[in-house]
Amino acid sequence: MIDCGEGTQLRLGKYKVKINRIDHIFLSHLHGDHYFGLIGLMSTMHLFGRTKPLYIYGPTPIKEIIDLQLKHSQTELNFDVHYFFTDQTESEIIFENRDLIVKKFPLNHRIFCTGFRFEEKPKNPKINKEKIPQDFSLSNIHKLKKGEDIYDEAGNLLFRNEELTLPPKRSRSYAYCSDTKYDESILAYISKVDLLYHEATFANDMKERAESTFHSTAEQAARMALKAKAEKLLLGHYSVRYRELDIILEEARHIFSESFLAMEGNIFEIEE
Ligand SMILES: [Zn+2]
Ligand SMILES: [Zn+2]
Repeated sequence: MIDCGEGTQLRLGKYKVKINRIDHIFLSHLHGDHYFGLIGLMSTMHLFGRTKPLYIYGPTPIKEIIDLQLKHSQTELNFDVHYFFTDQTESEIIFENRDLIVKKFPLNHRIFCTGFRFEEKPKNPKINKEKIPQDFSLSNIHKLKKGEDIYDEAGNLLFRNEELTLPPKRSRSYAYCSDTKYDESILAYISKVDLLYHEATFANDMKERAESTFHSTAEQAARMALKAKAEKLLLGHYSVRYRELDIILEEARHIFSESFLAMEGNIFEIEE
C-alpha cells in the first residue's frame, strides 16, 4: 500500500480489500493526508489477530509517532513492525523480492518527501509445450526457464533457448510522485514508466499558489509525464476548490493525451 490517509480503512472495507493481505506500507511524507490512517489500520490488524510482521517505509519520525500512540493506549501489538527509514536524499532500493524492486527517490515538497518506483524484474521465458521433445528432462526445462540454451553431455548445442520457448511477458513499472512541485530533476527516476501517478493539486489558474505551496498543476504533471516518456499519467490530490475536475483533465490532456483522473474506486490495470 502506498500512503495511508484518514479514510483508508473505510475504503478498504468498501472495496473489499482484505486488510491482512497488506504487508508493506510505503509512506511518502508526514503531512496528515498521507498517513493519518496508519494507526487505525494497525489497530484493526491487531484486533483481527494478525501475527505476521508489517513493514513500514517512511521518514524516521513515523516510528516515534506510532510508538507514542501505542504507548498511551497501552497497546502491545500481536505482530512485529519493521521500519525502513527513507531519510537519505539519494535514490535507493528499499524493497526487493523475487519479482519486484521498489526504489525511493527525492521529491520537492515543503517537508521531506519521497516518491516510489515499482518495477517488475525481467520475467522468465515461457516454455512452448508444443515444441518440447517427448523425452525432455526436468533439469532441461529449468534451464530453459532461466533463459539458457540446451547442450548434450559432450557440449554440443542441441537447442537454442528461443527454439523451445515463447518470449517472456513484459516487466511492468509504476512510479508514484505524491506531493511535489514541478522539478525536472525527478525525471531521472521516473523515465519510461508504464504508469506515472503525479499529483495535480491545482489547475493553471492557481499556478502561483502551486509554486508557493510546493504542489503541481495538472499541466506540470502532464509535462513531467511527457518528458519522462511515460505511457500513461494518473492525476490526483486535487484541491477541494475544484468541484468539477474537467479543467484538471483538460489542461493535462492538452500536453499529454494519455492522462486520466484517479478517482475513488477506479482500477487501472497495466498490461503485461
Ligand atoms: Zn504534503
Ligand atoms: Zn498531500
